[in-house]
Amino acid sequence: MWGSARSLRRSVGWIAQVLLVFVPGWAEAREDRMVRTPAEYEQALDRSRPGDRIVLANGEWRDFQVLFNAEGEDGRPITLTAQTPGAVILTGQSNLRMAGRHLVVSNLVFRDGWSPTGEVVSFRQNRQNRAVNSRVTGIVIDGFSKPDRSESDNWVAMYGFGNRFDHSHLIGKTNAGTTLVVVRDEEQGLENRHLIDHNWFGPRPPLGSNGGETLRIGTSHDSESSSFTTVTANWFERTNGEVEIISNKSGQNTYRGNVFFEAEGALTLRHGDGAVVEDNVFIGNGRPNTGGIRVINRNNTVRNNYMEGLRGEGFASALTILYGVPNSPLNRYVQVQNAVIENNTLVDVAEVALGEGMDTERSAPPIDSRFARNLIVNRDGSDPVRMTGDLGGIAFEGNVVSAHATILPGAESRTVALSRGRGGLMVPQGVDGIGARRDLAFVGRNAVGVSWYPKDAERAALDSGQTIAVAAEEDALTLAARTAAPGDRLVLAAGDHVVNAVLAVETPLTVEGPSDGEARILFSRPTLFEIGRHGSLKLANLSISGAEAPDAAGNAVVRAGSDAFGYRLELSGVRVSDLTVNRAFDLIAAEPGSLASRIVLSAVTAEGLTGSVLRASAETRDLGTYNAEVVEVTGSTFRRIAGPAIDLYRGGTDESTFGPRLTVSGTTFQGVGQGGAVPAAIRLIGVQRAELTANRFTESGPVRFERRVGAPVLIWRDNQADADPFLFSNVEAQ
Ligand code: CA
Repeated sequence: MWGSARSLRRSVGWIAQVLLVFVPGWAEAREDRMVRTPAEYEQALDRSRPGDRIVLANGEWRDFQVLFNAEGEDGRPITLTAQTPGAVILTGQSNLRMAGRHLVVSNLVFRDGWSPTGEVVSFRQNRQNRAVNSRVTGIVIDGFSKPDRSESDNWVAMYGFGNRFDHSHLIGKTNAGTTLVVVRDEEQGLENRHLIDHNWFGPRPPLGSNGGETLRIGTSHDSESSSFTTVTANWFERTNGEVEIISNKSGQNTYRGNVFFEAEGALTLRHGDGAVVEDNVFIGNGRPNTGGIRVINRNNTVRNNYMEGLRGEGFASALTILYGVPNSPLNRYVQVQNAVIENNTLVDVAEVALGEGMDTERSAPPIDSRFARNLIVNRDGSDPVRMTGDLGGIAFEGNVVSAHATILPGAESRTVALSRGRGGLMVPQGVDGIGARRDLAFVGRNAVGVSWYPKDAERAALDSGQTIAVAAEEDALTLAARTAAPGDRLVLAAGDHVVNAVLAVETPLTVEGPSDGEARILFSRPTLFEIGRHGSLKLANLSISGAEAPDAAGNAVVRAGSDAFGYRLELSGVRVSDLTVNRAFDLIAAEPGSLASRIVLSAVTAEGLTGSVLRASAETRDLGTYNAEVVEVTGSTFRRIAGPAIDLYRGGTDESTFGPRLTVSGTTFQGVGQGGAVPAAIRLIGVQRAELTANRFTESGPVRFERRVGAPVLIWRDNQADADPFLFSNVEAQ
């Protein structure tokens, strides 16, 4: 055998390392070809025969657009892999396309860049050449997102048929487009029979618009045909892109034994019939918007699933059965027919929404359906079931609800004792045959994804770095901010800090005043802090004056740039004054394209602003996008503010997202938002939830709250106002 290897090496004049590996039971040897450059890769690809492997040498492969087109054989695939798992990193403008049959790709990492095309890993070369009977396993795609959040791509696109995508990490997609998609068309055959298993779909932040699905199979166009794709034993962990974690848009797919962990949204049977959703585990841990399964269409089975601690409501309820559209077009909502929902266990969930979404368009109730032997236990004795419309088409049989009284027809209402079983899930006592299988277990977090890449590498947190003292000298803060490491805390000495540059915040940064005395920042540029792509900012115990800012319209103390995404902004014990040099001088201004995950103002005093305290109203294209997911204001004082102190906008009728959400409590508004064409102390347009508690409004404009989509909630409690406190366009206060 070794002789033949040497002669082969001579005969091809091959310069790279060639190893001959004898595999017992195989009639022929296979070759491993180690390659160190894209050119060597091309040569190796040309020479590869069934059973061979191309091995990328360890190191960074920058701007490497890999085309892997080859023909393996059943049982003798051609493999592209890494010298060492985790040590081959594709960066910059890189991607991978596959075409042919019996191909395997494994152990590659995509990081520190983005794909220049519409896909990172594609099971096709082009429309004509696709991969079939092929496998991608042990791939990591980590933060490989296009920098412009609105520019869409798919990280993994499965074409062809008989393909498998497994044991991979997909983490931190921040731009639009699905994390993994099955693309279907008649030319390639619509029966895909793909297998998607043992992947770790890691955290994905809210996109702030439609197009943030983690997994989608098909489109509405071909949804009446069957894909026969199986999705099993995957984790979906904090996959919070939008209301559809999974968007099922084809027939006869199976979702079995997956774990949804603290994931906002729901597994949505959006289009297509005959799905089986069984043995899945949903753990919400009380996090907002964590949902379960949403049922639309015909012949779907939802069986033996377990849900605990889900707080989602409406479209993101633990279980949702939707109203349909009569004679629905393909892209709307087919009436629920012949749904079987049985033996599911729901523990401490916020809502089970039956007949959800009924409106003038969605007017067709569910029919010929069964809701049987489900167990619904809320340990606080509440009944999460909410029923809307005509549910006579659902046969309710043998359900148990642990409420003092339940509205579920025919359900037994009783207290059910629970204990944590060996598999970690709650097991009920004394209700045999009701709820999920008692031995239901879930796939471990260690059993999904790859073992050689961390699952917990989050970006640096605020205050996780060093503490650095900053003297009260002109531009000392400028230098400190420019040289700060991620998570550093800059502690200012008492006195005046003059800043003559825009401080770019590209990583988490804290700036705080001394424990004794007061630090005051004055700035001479139009912006003091500008938050960038990976920035977050915390300001504490200091004073900021706008008196030295240039005489221009639209100045801001903190500006979120158009690429600021998923950032946190916290102001605590901050006094802001003299933002008056020209008009529209804001404390915080969000540029179009930016999205805050959380903005928190506590004990902030803002006096004398010609703009707003928070202006997050730049997304005026009415596409359902917005600039702040969660805003919390507590114990603050806003005086002599020309614009609305808080100005949040989300336009359009898209139903894919949960924000913006606002809470304001214990805050004084005095002389706020009286002028302008539309006076408002607070202006909330398209905000999904606003909770205003124990605030005082004097000599101020009203609170404006306008519905644009969904069922927004305004809670108005214990507030005082010396004039008409609020205006609604088309919602009722609760
Ligand atoms: Ca969607």
